[in-house]
Amino acid sequence: MIERFKGLHVLAKLFFGERSYLESSLDLFIKKCEKNKQHLQVKHHLDKLFIAKLMYAVDEGIFFWLKECLQASDVNLTDLDLIDFADIFKNVRKGTFHRFLPSSVVKVINKKDGNERDMKKPKNSSNSNNILKPVMNTQPVKSWRLRANKNYEKVFGGRKKEAFSPKLSVGCFPCTKWHSKGYCFEDCPNARSHKILEGDNWKKTDKFIKDIRGE
Ligand SMILES: [Zn+2]
Repeated sequence: MIERFKGLHVLAKLFFGERSYLESSLDLFIKKCEKNKQHLQVKHHLDKLFIAKLMYAVDEGIFFWLKECLQASDVNLTDLDLIDFADIFKNVRKGTFHRFLPSSVVKVINKKDGNERDMKKPKNSSNSNNILKPVMNTQPVKSWRLRANKNYEKVFGGRKKEAFSPKLSVGCFPCTKWHSKGYCFEDCPNARSHKILEGDNWKKTDKFIKDIRGE
């Protein structure tokens, strides 16, 4: 991603010159991205479209600014806020960055990303054309989490767990994926258990996970 912004930066330098508004703004934006690489990786982990959204936000700003340039006689008569990317970055850090991608972009990303994703859509899902939205468990019960170096499918997969599955008061079984792996999907048959469990539901799930592990 940063390489792409660097490419844009070179073009801005070439067309508008060093220390021009666009060049300086992109330069600052790249430095911020490099300095906050880890933060961006976390965002990308939580939202697979995050990088695309960030790129789109920058592209869109440049596009509308260039459009204004076509009609303006002086750069100061254009809306320079459009290419003030520091604002985008500020929103990313505050967690208030949102951008809707046009469906054409989403489709391309989905096609390209389809085979690489760790977060695969369940095989029996019927709407395979829809974008999968992972539902993250941000406050997992520590003892339920998949242990280091353990394979989720080996521990929780297969028919083993079906024998133990307790029905919760929410009307479904506990989703081990959400509670152990840390994420699941909106179309999970046990989606109603994608929440912090309490009381009897907690006890049932705790026993369930222990039974699966043979503890
Ligand atoms: Zn689930």
